[in-house]
Amino acid sequence: MNKPKIVVLGAGYAGLTATRKLAQKLSPEEAEIVLINRHNYHYEATWLHEVAAGTINHNQARYMISDVVNPKRVRLIYDTVVEVKTEDQRVVLENSEVEYDYLVFALGFVTNTFGIKGMEDNAFFIQDIDSARVIREHIEYKFAQYSSGESTDDSDLTVLVGGGGFTGIEFVGELAEKIPELCKKYDIPRNKARIINVEAAPSILPVFEEDLVAYAKKSLEDRGVEFRIGAAISECTEEGFIVGEDNELIKAGTSVWTGGVMGSPVLEKSGFEVFRGKVNVDADLRLPGSENVFIIGDCSWTMDKETGKPYPPTGQLATQEGAHVAENIKNALYGLPLTDFVFDDKGTVASLGISDGIGNIFNGVKLQGKPAAAMKKVVDDRTLLVVGGPKALLKKGKYRPF
Ligand code: NAD
Repeated sequence: MNKPKIVVLGAGYAGLTATRKLAQKLSPEEAEIVLINRHNYHYEATWLHEVAAGTINHNQARYMISDVVNPKRVRLIYDTVVEVKTEDQRVVLENSEVEYDYLVFALGFVTNTFGIKGMEDNAFFIQDIDSARVIREHIEYKFAQYSSGESTDDSDLTVLVGGGGFTGIEFVGELAEKIPELCKKYDIPRNKARIINVEAAPSILPVFEEDLVAYAKKSLEDRGVEFRIGAAISECTEEGFIVGEDNELIKAGTSVWTGGVMGSPVLEKSGFEVFRGKVNVDADLRLPGSENVFIIGDCSWTMDKETGKPYPPTGQLATQEGAHVAENIKNALYGLPLTDFVFDDKGTVASLGISDGIGNIFNGVKLQGKPAAAMKKVVDDRTLLVVGGPKALLKKGKYRPF
């Protein structure tokens, strides 16, 4: 009998964890494992705001897949997934095709512009390593142009951030560190450079309690971040965002949209039913109606039976789903029942720059300031260890004892 072939799409938190766990649980005699990813590296999606601001180098936020997955055990294919044909168990790639017996769909998120006019063309997105790196370079280019006299428009020194969710707020926290550095480097007075966050809802970071949100807002304002809260962005032009009911134009040299995400467009291309950008999976993480396709990470909504709402999408959730899928595929191979996924929430921390943050950990312990920033580094390093193993942690870890 042919060995079953397990194909994993995507080497983000969910897909890489699933692959490594599958390789640990199943011998080469029990199953063939294939991992398909666009790049030959995995990146830390939750560190991209730091890459975009330039507070860490992009190489710190990525590591080679072949350093943490044994290519002799797992066949690695670096290519872009175009479509999944479930009717004949086949994945179409840009340069080839691959058949599967079991499929793990973990292609992650893309930025969602909700069709806002001009956003695709004029705003930058924090979406992957390359898009984050371009933002860092663009901001610095604008400062260099101003400093050399090539530009005399003060608004070139403004970084405008649309959306006050996790990504937008963590990003302005990093900008509050970076912009003063750039001002020094290019002999520009600090008060000429502006960082503005625009949020449509009545509050930023709605997942946190009011006191933590108030702390975050004040701390960022004290470091020069301006907020426009309760102001919806209706358009993005070459000059900046059009904001609020009176259609005010806020001009900026750099406009970054952090207003929302959705699952990979390959979901719809493959004919899967998508709700608010993702697939509602069954409790065992399978595509409804499918025996052998699992959808995890930012491509799916997984229901919390206690609240009746989907679990909030985070790197922590994706990693746990990756491990669960590996267990369920092993069960399926041996004809055992699949088990339902239950999220073990270890808490949430948002950074507000290098030495500040807010967080909720261990069911109700609130953190703010330096302890939250320290906890964030612990979370980041733990993720490296859980997803990539000791090698990833030693090479890329943020905690430096010496
Ligand atoms: P998000 O959807 O959480 O936040 C987007 C924000 O943009 C919202 O506050 C929304 O009100 C605002 N917005 C939308 N349209 C707007 C408009 N037209 N004008 C002005 N504001 C507008 O997106 P995100 O921050 O990219 O996060 C995506 C997901 O990833 C979330 O579920 C988040 O919790 C998760 N995430 C978690 C972490 C973490 O746990 N540390 C870090 C990053 C992201």
